[in-house]
Amino acid sequence: MRIGFVGAGRMAQAIAKGFTSRGIIKSRNIWASDRAEKTLERISTELRINVTHDNREVVEHSDILVLSVKPQVMDTVLAELSDLTDPSKLVVSVAAGVTLDHLQSRLLPDSRVIRLMPNTPILANAGASVYCVGKAAKPEDGPLIEALFKSVGTCDYLPENLMDAATGLSGSGPAFIFEAIDAMTSAGVQMGLPLSLAQRLVCQTVHGAGLLALQSGQSPAELRDAITSPGGTTIAGLSELEARGFRAALWQAVMTSAKRSAELG
Ligand code: NAD
Repeated sequence: MRIGFVGAGRMAQAIAKGFTSRGIIKSRNIWASDRAEKTLERISTELRINVTHDNREVVEHSDILVLSVKPQVMDTVLAELSDLTDPSKLVVSVAAGVTLDHLQSRLLPDSRVIRLMPNTPILANAGASVYCVGKAAKPEDGPLIEALFKSVGTCDYLPENLMDAATGLSGSGPAFIFEAIDAMTSAGVQMGLPLSLAQRLVCQTVHGAGLLALQSGQSPAELRDAITSPGGTTIAGLSELEARGFRAALWQAVMTSAKRSAELG
């Protein structure tokens, strides 16, 4: 299987690295195009994939074509590729907000299109992806993309009306967690812990808490209550989070990110 990326930025690189490091797709079967010369030079050396300035060349060399440019430049790219994406190619857009109808209307009518929202933890084999499927897709297209992205994390089918919500939650979500990791690490350093140890302790704590929440069968509230003794250290910290609006801030961050995704469409 040959996969091509139009737009070779952070998301495309994360997916390409995830697939090659797991041996899912060989680097010689991956093509990527970009406007930025330096990006192409770097990924050609680092990932050993085929690179070009010509978006149309990527289409020619691909069975699966991933459109991984920013939503704002998607129409330019679609106009350039509109006559090329025949039904022998599966087109996958990872752009926030850009709807299946929009994609389909700018490509050939029988183009097979999938809208996917991945996230960068794919790089660590722990991605969380969701996808929905266009009208002209073959029955096997959704399962194919699901299997591919399950090889680098989780991948779930989602009705399209929930894609923006997932974009706020899991597409942008890693940034919210990195913000938390950074803030907690700084607190550790302020109290005298070496930076690298503070960061490792926080990352392992986030990793462990996520795994426990996934595996335990208990709700996050139950898991939190289990480590919150009356009058203890954890409730002292939690009362600070409550007073400073931590929960409301995170809640609103996800909602506002989802709203922005819908605006970009
Ligand atoms: P990015 O800016 O890192 O990459 C986009 C790349 O597209 C750049 O390298 C740019 O030079 C290139 N480009 C611009 N115009 C082009 C053109 N006409 N032809 C070819 N290449 C062109 O952005 P990113 O973070 O990789 O995001 C790409 C897409 O992935 C976005 O639509 C975003 O919504 C989606 N996405 C990103 C993430 C994430 O965590 N970064 C997560 C999920 C989805």
